[in-house]
Amino acid sequence: MAAIAKIHPVLGLPDPQLLATHPVMHQWLAPEKGLLYRLRQAMAQAGASPARCVVLLPYAQLRPLAQRLWQQVFDDGFAPRFETTRSWTTALGAGVDGIFDLRQDRAQDLLTAHSLLVQAGQSVRADQLAPHLVDAALQLAPLAAGRAPQQRAVWAQACRDMLRVTQGGEAGQWEALVAQVALEWVHISAYASDVLYTEVPWQQVDLVLQVCGLNADPLAEGLQAHWGPGRWVPCQWMAVEQTLALAQSSRWRAHACLDAQDEARRSAACAVRHIQAGRFPLALVSSDRAFTRQIQVQLEAAGVSVRDETGWKLSTTRAGTYTMALLRAAVWNASTDTVLAWLKLAPFASAQVDALEALLRRYGVRDWAQVARLGALQKQPALVQLLDLVAQVREPLQQRGTLTDALGRLRGALQRSGYGALLEATGSHPAVVPEGSAMLACLQLDAQAHDAWAETAQRTWSLAEFTAWVNQSLEAASWSPEYPQNEQVVLVPMSQLLARPFAAVLLCGCDEQRLPASAPPAGIWTRAQREALGLPSREALDQVQRLAWATALHTPEIDILWRTSDDSGEALMPSTLVQALQVHGNGVDAAQSAWMKEVSPQPQQPPQPQAQALGVQRLSASAYDDLRTCPYRFFALRILGLQSDDELEQDVDKRDFGVWLHEVLSRFHRQLALAGDADRARQSELLDAAADAVSKVQGLAHAEFLPFMASWPAVRDHYLGWLQAHQAAGYAFEQSELARERSWQGVRLQGRLDRVDRQAQGGVLVLDYKTESSTRVRERIASPMEDTQMAFYGALLQEETADPVEGSYLMLSENECKAFAQPDMALAVQSLLDGIAHDVQQIAQGAALPALGEGDACTYCAARGLCRKDTWGSV
Ligand code: SF4
Repeated sequence: MAAIAKIHPVLGLPDPQLLATHPVMHQWLAPEKGLLYRLRQAMAQAGASPARCVVLLPYAQLRPLAQRLWQQVFDDGFAPRFETTRSWTTALGAGVDGIFDLRQDRAQDLLTAHSLLVQAGQSVRADQLAPHLVDAALQLAPLAAGRAPQQRAVWAQACRDMLRVTQGGEAGQWEALVAQVALEWVHISAYASDVLYTEVPWQQVDLVLQVCGLNADPLAEGLQAHWGPGRWVPCQWMAVEQTLALAQSSRWRAHACLDAQDEARRSAACAVRHIQAGRFPLALVSSDRAFTRQIQVQLEAAGVSVRDETGWKLSTTRAGTYTMALLRAAVWNASTDTVLAWLKLAPFASAQVDALEALLRRYGVRDWAQVARLGALQKQPALVQLLDLVAQVREPLQQRGTLTDALGRLRGALQRSGYGALLEATGSHPAVVPEGSAMLACLQLDAQAHDAWAETAQRTWSLAEFTAWVNQSLEAASWSPEYPQNEQVVLVPMSQLLARPFAAVLLCGCDEQRLPASAPPAGIWTRAQREALGLPSREALDQVQRLAWATALHTPEIDILWRTSDDSGEALMPSTLVQALQVHGNGVDAAQSAWMKEVSPQPQQPPQPQAQALGVQRLSASAYDDLRTCPYRFFALRILGLQSDDELEQDVDKRDFGVWLHEVLSRFHRQLALAGDADRARQSELLDAAADAVSKVQGLAHAEFLPFMASWPAVRDHYLGWLQAHQAAGYAFEQSELARERSWQGVRLQGRLDRVDRQAQGGVLVLDYKTESSTRVRERIASPMEDTQMAFYGALLQEETADPVEGSYLMLSENECKAFAQPDMALAVQSLLDGIAHDVQQIAQGAALPALGEGDACTYCAARGLCRKDTWGSV
C-alpha cells in the first residue's frame, strides 16, 4: 500500500490512515486484483499500448479520479484515456441534427413529438400525448442506440411484431399509439453514439476497456457485441457477491429522527461533526430535492463548502422561477396574487411593489383586470406608471403566434421587465443570475430560434400552450452550480458512489416512502413488453437498487437517517433496506453513541414581554380590544406590527359580504341624499343600483357571489323597512365611512365609523353595521364596561360635538334588520378612556404583557405561532 501514501494529497483526503484502510481505495489499487492492475493486465494481454487504449467509465465524475490514480500508481509510462461513452462521442465531434432525431433535449423533443403525433392523425390530442411520447422514446432510445445503425431496421421490425402481439383492448389504445410512434421515432432517429459503430474511433485506439456500472448499458453491450473481444473488453468493478458481502459487514450509525426538520438538522450536524474530525470529502445522499436544499442551507450557514452533483432543475432556479412567474402573470384573467408574485421578482417593480400590494389587499382586489379601475390607485402617479409598464410587458405575451414569435415576445418581456440583462454575461463579467445562460440556451432565447426548431413548430401557439412547453422544458433541464475548489460535502446520487473513496457517507431519507426497496418501473410498458423489448424488469431495477445501497455501505463511516413520522404526523417505518441491515446487527443507535449530546429539557413558559421602550403610539378599537383580550397578542400584532396580509384569492365568504354591504349602504345613502324625496320603490331601485355598482368595483364574480345575492332582496327589504321606522323616529342620515382621530393621554385614538345620523332634537347617533348573529350583538351591549368598539366611536366623536352621543349596532340579515342600542354610552365612553389611560401608563412603566388569551380568542388568533401556546402543555 505504499502507493496510497503518495496518493492522498492528490485526492485531498486529509487522513492517510483512512486511505490505507478504505475498501474503495483497496478495490482501485490492490496489486493484482485492484481495478487498475486488472486494466493494465488486459492491455498487456491484448498487446495494446495504454496510450492507444480507452477506458470507459460508468459516469463522468470518475474520470479525474481514475486519471490521477493511474498516474500515481503507474508513473513510469503512458496512460490510457479515461472517458464515458458520452464524453468520447463528444470528443469525436459527433452529434445529431436531423429534424426528427431524438435530441434527448426535452424542449426540442416535445416539438418533434407533437409533429409526429400530428402526422399520425392525432392533432387533437397531440399536446396531451407529446410528453408521454417523449418519455416512451427516451426509454426505448438506449435499446435502439445499442444496435448498429444497419441492424436497427431488423430490431424495429421485431419490436413492431412484438407490440402487435402484446397490445390490445380499448383501455390501452393511447398507450398503444404512443408505443408505436415512439418505436418508429427511435428507429428513424440517428444517435451521436452511432460514430462508435464506425472505424472513426479506431484510428487512434486499439482497445476499449469498459468498466461496468450498476445499471445495464445497452449501448456498451451493443458495441461489445459489434466489435468483439479483440477490441472491446468488459471489466467488473467488483463481483456482485463481494459487493453484497462487504456491505453486510459494514458498521453504521442509525438515526431514527422525529420528523423532516429533525432529520435535516441531524444530517447537517453529522456532516459538521465528520468535517471537524477531518473525515471529508463526505457524500450526502438524498433523493428528496427540497429536503436536500434544507440541509444545504444549514451547511452553507455553517461555512461548509458543498459541491452539488445532483444538479438543479432549471425550473427551480431563480431564472426559471422568474420566467414561469412572468408567463403565469401574463394570462389575460390572471389573479392579483399571480401578478404580484411576478412583480415581487421583477427588477422594474421593486420600488413600488410593496405599496401596490398594500393598496390592493386593503381594497381586496382579487382580479388583476380590476386593478386599473381602482380609484385609490389613480391618485398615486408612481403606481399608475407601474401599471403602464406591467401592461407593456404582459400584453404582447397574450398574442398568438409561431414558436419563434412567442420566443421573441418572451425575450422582449424579459428585457422590458429588467431581467434579461441579469441573465447574460457581459464581456468578462459573468451573468448576475448564474444559471442565466443555461436557461437562455435551454429555450434558445439567446439567439433567433434555430431553423430546425422553427420548422418543427410552425403551428400557432396560444400563451397557455407556450407556457406549458416552457414549463416542461425547464422541468427537464438541469443545471449545476460552479463547483467549489475544495469541497467538504458532495451531494451525490446513490448510484454515483460506485468506486468513489469518500471518507464518510450520510444516507438521508431512508424511510419506507423515500427509499422503497422496490418500485414499479416508469413508463407505459407492460411487464411482457418490457421483457420482450429488453427494458429492465422490476426485478432487475430492484437488484440495481440493492447494489447501489450496498456500494454506499463500502464507506468507512456511515450514518443512516430516516424520519419516523411524515408531515401529517403519520408514522413511518425505515426502508426495508435499512431493516435488512438491522437484521445483521452492525448498526449502532446514534442516540446511544457519543455523537448525541444530552440537553436538559427547558420548561416553556408563556411569554411576558415588556414594551416601555416602544410605547403605544396609536390605538384603534380593534387594537384596544386585542389589548383587553390578550396583552401578548397586542404586543405582537400591534406594537411589533407582526400582522400577516390577507390572501386575495380566498373564496367569497361572509366577511366579503360584510365589506360589500357596508359599501353598498354608504353609496346608497349618498345617492339618496342627492335624490331628495324618494318613495319606497325608488329607494329599492337606488339600493339595487348601489349593489350592482359595488359588485362591479369589487370585482365579485356573479357565480361566486350568488349565495349572498340570493339573500339580497330580503336583506334590502328588511333594511328599507327599518329605515322607514328609523326616519319616522326623527333620525336622518348624515355621513358614512367617517375617519376620525383624537389624542388621549399621548396616544392617537383613531377609527372609521360606519355611519353617523343626526336626531331631530339635536343628538348624534353612531351606527355600526353587523352581519353577525343577534346573540353575538346582544353580548356586545350586555355590559357597557366591556363594549370597547361602540365606546371607542363615542370617544372619537365626543370632542367635536356638544350634543349627546348615542350608539347602536344595526344587525342586518335576510331574516331581520334590527338596531341594538348601547344603553349607557356616556358610562361606556368614560370607562373606556379611563381604561386606556391606565393601560398605557402601565405599559410605559414596564408592566408585562402576558399571553392570557382563552377559548375562541386563541382559536382564531394570528399570534398563536408566536406565543407558542401549543407548547405550554409540556411545561
Ligand atoms: S393564541 Fe391566545 S394566548 Fe396566544 S397570543 Fe393569541 S390570544 Fe394570546
